Parts: sequence; C-alpha cells; structure tokens
Amino acid sequence: MSDNNSNTDFSVLRKRAEEKLRSIEKKSGSNSPAELEHELNVHKEELEMQNEELLVTQRDLVRSIDNYTELFNLAPVGYFILDSEGIISNVNRKGSQLLGLHKNQLIGNPFSVFLNGESFQDDYYRHRNTVMETGELRQLPSEVRKKDGTTLSILIESICVNDEQGQFKHLLSTFSDITRRVQEERKIEFALEKEVELSELKSRFITMVSHEFRTPLTTILSSIELIDKYDKTEDLAKRKNHVGKIKSSVKGLKEILSLFFTLNEIENNMVSNQPATFDMVKLTDNVISMLDKKGHTFFYNHSDNLQDVFLDAKLLKICLANILGNAVKYSPSPGAIEITTEKTKEGTILIFVKDYGIGIPEHEKAQIFEKFYKAQNADVIQGTGLGLNTTQKLISLMGGSISFESKLNEGTVFVLEFKEN
Ligand code: ADP
Repeated sequence: MSDNNSNTDFSVLRKRAEEKLRSIEKKSGSNSPAELEHELNVHKEELEMQNEELLVTQRDLVRSIDNYTELFNLAPVGYFILDSEGIISNVNRKGSQLLGLHKNQLIGNPFSVFLNGESFQDDYYRHRNTVMETGELRQLPSEVRKKDGTTLSILIESICVNDEQGQFKHLLSTFSDITRRVQEERKIEFALEKEVELSELKSRFITMVSHEFRTPLTTILSSIELIDKYDKTEDLAKRKNHVGKIKSSVKGLKEILSLFFTLNEIENNMVSNQPATFDMVKLTDNVISMLDKKGHTFFYNHSDNLQDVFLDAKLLKICLANILGNAVKYSPSPGAIEITTEKTKEGTILIFVKDYGIGIPEHEKAQIFEKFYKAQNADVIQGTGLGLNTTQKLISLMGGSISFESKLNEGTVFVLEFKEN
C-alpha cells in the first residue's frame, strides 16, 4: 500500500514541475530579462520546496517499510509466507522461534514437513487448497513437531494475498501456540469423562445395594417374624428352617462386605504380592472343596510339575474362588465345570476354567471387568459385579493376566496366566 502512495506522490510532483517549466518557456517570449530572472528565482524556490517535500515523503516511506518489517518480525504469532506450492519464502522471528529452527533452515522448505505426521500434513494440504480456491481466511487446528522432538498444538490461519491485478501473490499462514488451551480442554474433557464414569458407577452401586442387600435383609426380617410365631414345640422344624435361612443370608452379606474390604485394600495399596512356594494342585482342590457346588460336577486336569509353584497362594486362592464361583453361578445345574492347570516349559502357569453356561453377550464383553458391572443376561442372578474387578486387580498385582472367550448360551472359558516371580 505504501509503495502505491509514494509512486503517486512522486509522479504528481514531477508533473507539477514540468508544467511550471513549460509555462516559463511560454512566457519567456514576451517578458523582460529582469522579470524573467525574478520568475525563474520564484520557480527555483518552489522547486526546492518540492524537493524538500519529496525527501520527507521518501523518509516516511523508508520509515513505514521499517515499521512493517518490525511488525512482521516482532509479531507475537508466527508468520509464514508461502508460494503456490506451499514452500516457505519468508518467515518471521516468532515462526522460527516456535519451530526451534533458524530462518535459513525454514526458507525453501515445504511448510507441511514441519507438521506432526501424515494426518496433520493431509489436513493442511486440504486447508491450503480451500484457501486458494475460495480466497477466504480459514482456520485449522494442527500440531507441529519441533526440532527437539517435542510437539506443539497450533492454530493455523491462512489467507491468499493477491497483487493489484488480482493475481495470486503469496499465501500467508500465521500460527499461534495453543498448547495450553488444548491441554486445558483435554483436562476438562477428562474431568467430564470421570464425572460421567462416577455417576454411572454410583447408579450401578445403588442398583447393586438394593438388589444384594434388600433380598437377604427381607429374608432375615420375615424369618424372624415367623420364628416369633412358631412358639409351639411341634414348630421346631419350621424354626430351624428359618434359622438356616437367616444364617445363609447373613453369610451372603458377610461375603459382599468382605469383597468390598478386599477391593478397598487393593485400591489403597494395602495388599502386596508375597510369593512363596506351594502345591498348586492342593490349592485348587481346596478351592473346589470349599465351593457351594449346587449340583455341578468338577473335572480337574493338571500337569505333574505343579508341586513347587512360586506365586502368592493367598491372592491366587481369592482369584480362583471368584472365577470358579462364577462358573457355578452362571451355568445350569447339574452341569460340568472343567479346570485345567499347567506349567509350560517356559515356566508359565496357566489356569483354564470352562463352563457350559449362559455365556457373556458380545456387546458387553468389554465391560465385565468394570466395578459393579453385571451383564444383562445375569441381571436376575445374585452378584455384586465386584468379583472380576477384584480378580483382575489381584492378578495384575501378581504380574499375571486374565482373559476369556465366551459364546452366548454355550459357555465361557477364563484363562489366567502367570510367570513365576
Ligand atoms: P458378579 O458378582 O455379578 O458375578 P463379577 O464381577 O464376578 O460379578 O462378574 C461380572 C459379570 O460378568 C457378571 O455379572 C456376569 O454378567 C459376567 N460373568 C462373569 N463370569 C461369568 C461366566 N462364567 N459366565 C457368564 N457370565 C459371567
């Protein structure tokens, strides 16, 4: 813009001087030499004044170019001037500072090579095409990889700059560091996700409590009321039946509370892995014998190298009891449950627990290790939804892993894998 103005100023001044000279030439035919000399002096003074004006304009022009250069260089955002191919032809100080590269290392290179990976480069390519096609200012959130390997979240704003004839001159892409903003946004997103998770957890907890606590408490209350009524000697059998119901309800409640405590201890890092040598076959037999089998038949196969397994037996027992308890709970009675334990040549301990029960719905497979989660087909079956979550945490504490395969209405097999510590 300043170039145009100055061109106009110079040509106007030149025109005016030429007109004056022409008018002097015209007049010189009729005037006396003294008059002519006087007129010449006047015009000379005028020319000197115009010359002075010209110098001032020139100085303004230089100052204004300096100002623009300063503005360009000291701008708080990175400025990149690119040709039609996206090659950098100029960059300001902030631009090279943000990328951690000297101006000379940037000029001549495609702007896109400094973006963090193919996906951001493709986005920028599309962005540049749109700006060049529409001629409109466009924005693009992106990411750059700096020389030191760190990444920076940036906001690119691009616009086409055309010459007086409306022909493409260059593309101007500015970029500002929005890393902080992006980090803050991610934090907020994370906090929101956590909040949604928490509220989901809360509602699952309430459902669990109302199912798992209300039923045994109602049983206990009604049994107590009936015992109170059965006061005759011949009612002894009925009283015993209700005492039995109370005992089993209280046992169920105690088990729920103990699961809560175990999980709480794990989450507060109060449980540690303390491996020692034990007989794996004996431990498995023991867990099977303690189970409330409900008419199921257990088939246990094992390799013969499991007398000296080096793991935390106490933690493994809790895990096995949970997995085997589920196999019983979620398969029909009478039915078969198969257990296999083995130690491979590489020293890996493998435990397989297979049932022929209700299976786990495909769309819920990813969630069954979550706290208080119960699959839809297990809704009416008693359970807190804490067993698998606790088991998974204990197994990971022992450095092992748990996985499963399941088919709806056909059965499930859980696989536990450990390396001896
Ligand atoms: P729960 O106390 O409900 O059994 P778990 O955490 O042990 O809680 O299991 C979570 C859910 O995983 C169960 O509610 C059930 O939907 C599913 N599940 C676990 N084991 C089995 C299995 N052997 N067969 C079918 N579903 C299972």
